[in-house]
Amino acid sequence: MEAVGKLKGGLGIDVFEIDEPRPGPGEVIVEVRATAICGTDLHFYYWDDYARRHNPGFPKVLGHEFSGVVVEVGEGVKRLDIGDRVAAETHIPCGSCYYCRTGRPHICENVKLYGIDTTYGSFTKYTVLPERVAIRIPEEISFEEAALLEPFGVAMHAVSEAGIKPGDTVAVLGCGPIGLFIQQLAKISGASKVIATEVSKYRLNLARKVGAADEVVDALREDPVRRVYELTCRGVDVVFEASGSTKAVKQGLEMVSKSGRVVQVGIARRPTKININTIVEKEVRLVGIAGRLMFSTWYRSIRMVQSRAIDVLQVVTHRLPLRQAPKAFETLSRGEAGKILLIP
Ligand SMILES: [Zn+2]
Ligand SMILES: [Zn+2]
Repeated sequence: MEAVGKLKGGLGIDVFEIDEPRPGPGEVIVEVRATAICGTDLHFYYWDDYARRHNPGFPKVLGHEFSGVVVEVGEGVKRLDIGDRVAAETHIPCGSCYYCRTGRPHICENVKLYGIDTTYGSFTKYTVLPERVAIRIPEEISFEEAALLEPFGVAMHAVSEAGIKPGDTVAVLGCGPIGLFIQQLAKISGASKVIATEVSKYRLNLARKVGAADEVVDALREDPVRRVYELTCRGVDVVFEASGSTKAVKQGLEMVSKSGRVVQVGIARRPTKININTIVEKEVRLVGIAGRLMFSTWYRSIRMVQSRAIDVLQVVTHRLPLRQAPKAFETLSRGEAGKILLIP
């Protein structure tokens, strides 16, 4: 079957043939119906430190945001049946470490990331995954919507951890799909003002089109910190850093108000220095977000999409056949896309 991922190290994405996977005990085979490119996949495109640390060997099929139909079940699978529509939690926990046993399996010490640490991801026709991370999807949610539940869940987890109260002012640094989801959720959660910042022209326009942010700041033409102080007097109550840019991480700490919260969602491509004294003097609370709570975030995310409280498809800008993935990655690397869906 045709697959998209890496056949070798270095810049770029390969399209290649690979054997269909077989289910091991406790595993299911899923026929992929919709899958999306994530910022994390770009690490593999660039072949940076993150990719080199995670790569399980070649060939490597990328993709972890997806939905599909169960077509085969391995020995001992009890909860799922052939024909079930599913999406997947990408964190595969060990089940026995301290964090797994104390209610935080998403930060398991031995966590394996589906589609990142595994040979088979979702950029192909058939993929394999443990039954315990497959999430059954209700009929009212389309395959395209279901493929976005994983990144939407990151935004849900981030907004929940931020504890937004009605009337809070919020800045969201980065208008990629997760940044856009956060802007929408912050507004629904009662934020009085949502200020978004971004450097890509394409994504600035997309944020304006989605329309959840009250103010969209072009961070290349305007100093976002100064703009935030103009709009809020004393800085924002909550900052979500959703770009991973070294510059934005610093700006976030400057624009947060005293006693404010900074929620770090973006993964930085380089080690980033921050001024600890700013955190101390302003009494800032800094929180990191790694994925979703397992599985409470999933249940809540499904309810949000099912009840039409949010339209996750608003962030989708491209729908392409799987084999056009190399072009899709180039487009994404230039920041000229929101969420790109690939259809096998
Ligand atoms: Zn992802
Ligand atoms: Zn564990």
